[in-house]
Amino acid sequence: MNVMLIGAQGSGKGTQAQLLEDQLNLKACASGELLRDAIARGTPLGLAAKPYYDNGDLVPDDLVAGLVLERLKELGDASGIILDGFPRTIAQAEALDRLLAARGKTLDAVVEMQVDDDALVKRIAGRFTCAGCGEGYHDAFKTTKSPGVCDRCGSTQFVRRRDDTEEVVRSRLAAYHAQTEPLIDYYRHLGKLKTVDGMAEIGAVHRAIARALDGDKL
Ligand code: AMP
Repeated sequence: MNVMLIGAQGSGKGTQAQLLEDQLNLKACASGELLRDAIARGTPLGLAAKPYYDNGDLVPDDLVAGLVLERLKELGDASGIILDGFPRTIAQAEALDRLLAARGKTLDAVVEMQVDDDALVKRIAGRFTCAGCGEGYHDAFKTTKSPGVCDRCGSTQFVRRRDDTEEVVRSRLAAYHAQTEPLIDYYRHLGKLKTVDGMAEIGAVHRAIARALDGDKL
């Protein structure tokens, strides 16, 4: 089964994708991760994408579709995929249909995670992760037990995503409403849309998604 999660940045798509990966043996394809990796490695695609990424703007469709295609090839045809952050525009949705069709696949379900903008800004603008082990923290919601020391690995080095400032988060939310929300109607008309409350706690959101997908005979 091939599933896509749709929701504003910070709605918890990454966390839910990981839970679904483990539970349903799906492989994740997260466009934001693919872009961060390409930017960090300084590939030609990463260099072209960086100015858009740093501003919180959408990266041009052809660049992102190129990365997604590489990832699909890398994953092979053995397992289902869970798309996180792609597609974000109607043009990308059409490109995805073509990419999947060329591999004899289709997108089976789209799960919309509904969230509130102001709560999202609070959630995203306080995020940081341990540079040693990648454990995620938050200034208000999940601090380290001992100040400045990672609970999991003891590292004292932490990183913040450069696009996790309030200003950039507001700009990304505006991009989401303008460019990505139309996809919700697009997939509703195709009969693929499921909607869950993304503001609930992580386990409850996961159960709601699992229930929504179960109707599709996972
Ligand atoms: P994310 O990790 O999904 O929040 O994405 C972080 C940033 O990567 C976004 O603010 C965009 O600049 C860029 N990005 C990720 N996925 C896409 C996409 N499908 N289309 C265009 N830009 C994207």
